[in-house]
Amino acid sequence: MVKKLKKWELLEEEDISPSPWFPLYKHKIKLPNGNIVDDYYLSKVGDVAMVVPVTKEGDIVFVKQYKHGAGDVIIELPAGRIKPEYTTEENAVMELEEETGYKTDKMILLGTLYGEPSKDTYKVFGFLAGGLTERYEQRLDENEDIDVVHVPIAKIDDFIKDGNICSPDTIAFIRLAQLKFPEMFKIS
Ligand SMILES: [Mg+2]
Repeated sequence: MVKKLKKWELLEEEDISPSPWFPLYKHKIKLPNGNIVDDYYLSKVGDVAMVVPVTKEGDIVFVKQYKHGAGDVIIELPAGRIKPEYTTEENAVMELEEETGYKTDKMILLGTLYGEPSKDTYKVFGFLAGGLTERYEQRLDENEDIDVVHVPIAKIDDFIKDGNICSPDTIAFIRLAQLKFPEMFKIS
């Protein structure tokens, strides 16, 4: 028998954000069994646009940078928080250009994932940008320091298997791209 799972009921929400950069809320919640939880903390840091950029030569383009949560330099797909004054696709185009220097006017939506389904509301919108050619200068914010890494499509599965990517949304969107556009990822 399939169990019918019920949602939680939000009774109260208090804004306890310590800064505009970290919107944080304290929720009072009623669980399906009737229990009340009055200290469930939920952040709303904002949706993200992420890009699987594929060059005309057949490389996937990654960015390498220090991430303070990881406390380490890690490799991920180019991505950034969505600016609400632009569409999701426009945000993806801008992030790709700023972080890698590659320009494109065509993004294909691969899918939408929850970034942190328990503790935050944000979603990650993943796009495929194919056939990238000429590369321009990166346009980084003053606090950004980003290295661009090219990995040939033929080596991407080994690159992941060897543990070079520790970021779940990056692995997920490469997999979605492989599933939805197998001809692009066929190793010739
Ligand atoms: Mg970024």
